Amino acid sequence: MKKPDWIKIRMQSGIQTNKVESLISDLSLNTVCDEANCPNRMECYKRGTATFMILGRNCTRNCTFCNVIRGVPDEVNPKEPENVAKAVAKLGLRHAVITSVTRDDLPDQGAMQFVKVVEEIRKAAPKVSIELLIPDMQGNKKLLDLIIDSEPNILNHNVETVPELYKKVRPMAVFERSIELLEYVKIRKPNMKTKSGIMLGLGETEEQVINVMKRLLEVNCDMLTLGQYLQPTTKHIKVVEYITPEKFDYYKDVALAMGFKRVASAPLVRSSYYAEDLQE
Ligand code: SF4
Ligand code: SF4
Repeated sequence: MKKPDWIKIRMQSGIQTNKVESLISDLSLNTVCDEANCPNRMECYKRGTATFMILGRNCTRNCTFCNVIRGVPDEVNPKEPENVAKAVAKLGLRHAVITSVTRDDLPDQGAMQFVKVVEEIRKAAPKVSIELLIPDMQGNKKLLDLIIDSEPNILNHNVETVPELYKKVRPMAVFERSIELLEYVKIRKPNMKTKSGIMLGLGETEEQVINVMKRLLEVNCDMLTLGQYLQPTTKHIKVVEYITPEKFDYYKDVALAMGFKRVASAPLVRSSYYAEDLQE
């Protein structure tokens, strides 16, 4: 399907872009910006922001939309938390977003690495707000407790799509398990901000999208991101529809009227796009 005019990838480069890229490579870090082939890379790097992807480059799951490699998981790098913190401090970030591949292979699913990253950032850059975009931890509440108790400013977990499409899009995930995760955060820490997101254009109906919003609000989710799914390679699930910018605006109005505190909704919005502004 031909990309419409409104999906324009802004190709920019410059000193700031190179600075971000070389810092990330010098510290042996990975970003979801690169791994997910995010269309906003140049723009975000120019602004000095990036989303760090911890716990290696290989994922144990097989979501059909995702560009992250499915393969043998990497060794956990004990230096990674410190290196992420160094990068956050050197880039002078106001807001750091940390995510990971899903590590179903690890006994703690990688929870302690998230905790250590938060601890190291707090030491290296105490004023930075921290957003953790976490996998579902297979719904293990003890592991979630560890992450919640590390006190990130925002706990983000994407439901990614409507439940009707999970089999096709997220075969190893469970919609209600993701909802329960967000609910549990609010039960444990009612003041912790929660955030979730969905990709549109995979064949979901408006009614299904609004039902997801309702479900997220039932568990008091504060923030929502909506963006267009873009097929990273021909091997990935196809785009069914390009949602117009007007329709994204409409969804934003609906979501705000329904009760979300913050909403980012536009074709190129990603979970971490302008995350520092969304949290304010
Ligand atoms: Fe990286 Fe997020 Fe920006 Fe994409 S939107 S480039 S993932 S920070
Ligand atoms: Fe990609 Fe996350 Fe799915 Fe892994 S679990 S394939 S990183 S979306």
